[in-house]
Amino acid sequence: MPTFPLLFDLATQRPTTRDVAKAVKDGGAAALTGADHRADDARYQEVTCRSALNRVAGMPFKWTLNPYRGCTHGCHYCFARRYHVQFEMNAGDEFASVILVKHNLVVVLARELDKPSWTRELVAFGTATDPYQPIEGHYKLSRGAIQAMTKGRTPFGLITKGPMIVRDIDVLADHARAARSTIYMSVPTVDEDAWRQLEPGTAHPLKRLRAVRELIDAGLNAGVLMAPIVPGFSSSRSKLERTVKAIADHGARFVGCNVMYLQDGTRDHFVQFLEREFPALRPRMEKLYRKKSPPEAYRKEVKAMVSVLQRRYGMARREDASPAGGAPSPDGPTGETQVGFAW
Ligand code: SF4
Repeated sequence: MPTFPLLFDLATQRPTTRDVAKAVKDGGAAALTGADHRADDARYQEVTCRSALNRVAGMPFKWTLNPYRGCTHGCHYCFARRYHVQFEMNAGDEFASVILVKHNLVVVLARELDKPSWTRELVAFGTATDPYQPIEGHYKLSRGAIQAMTKGRTPFGLITKGPMIVRDIDVLADHARAARSTIYMSVPTVDEDAWRQLEPGTAHPLKRLRAVRELIDAGLNAGVLMAPIVPGFSSSRSKLERTVKAIADHGARFVGCNVMYLQDGTRDHFVQFLEREFPALRPRMEKLYRKKSPPEAYRKEVKAMVSVLQRRYGMARREDASPAGGAPSPDGPTGETQVGFAW
């Protein structure tokens, strides 16, 4: 019978993420007795972070920034699902329903950016979860982080599926005058069936593209990542073409893409999702995903297809268009341009 004292303290204190991990390990997510239940049925647990910027290796950027852990957008392919396991929470339902909120992130970030040792390297904003998921409307941590990076003249690349970003056009414009920034709106497909099946908590793809239009009209450097393209769901030629055309029609400055990869808890979740909702697809998916990614030949073939579409609709490829360099992508590990169009 666990008697971990934080089961009681969490109701009155703001624990660290380590405290939360310990509490959940002993008592499950139900141990988060101080978590705030909201109308969306998710629970929000405020945590105290000791650092805001996280140093990472093996990526096209060295620093990441994530105000939230867990994401109510709940995309079934989300590679960040596996990171929730670090907090002793599962990569399935709890990833989308138990959200950790770093309530002190902006203060800590400002302190880090103010250090003489900070060399204003590119920050990848939103690599683990979406900085404009619905709870941002309440906490405004992403807005505060942008303001801190403006003051600290720190460049960033931000990726989101949240049209709420247009709320912050004023602070994004201020930032653009102080440092480089690139906004990557994630729109893997405009196909309604694939959207409903794969991204249950996200805004409609066209709403995201309209947000891109607003960002562009405000003079911001914004484009779209078709990330990830999911074989069997959003990978047909016709779906790819409709998506690239819609992206071009909304004035995006660039488009990039990658093919879904599956690893650890994300793989487990996705296989369970397929088994539950689309059992007929599972054998083909397992054949294609013997490893984390589909075979290179597959990725090369589809990359060529999307390149054709990019040229057809006059779109710049992401790497041609991004002054900020490599994209932070919660939908892919390396920021490589990888695409898919068929099984
Ligand atoms: S892919 Fe992005 S929007 Fe979807 S659940 Fe993951 S972090 Fe959230």
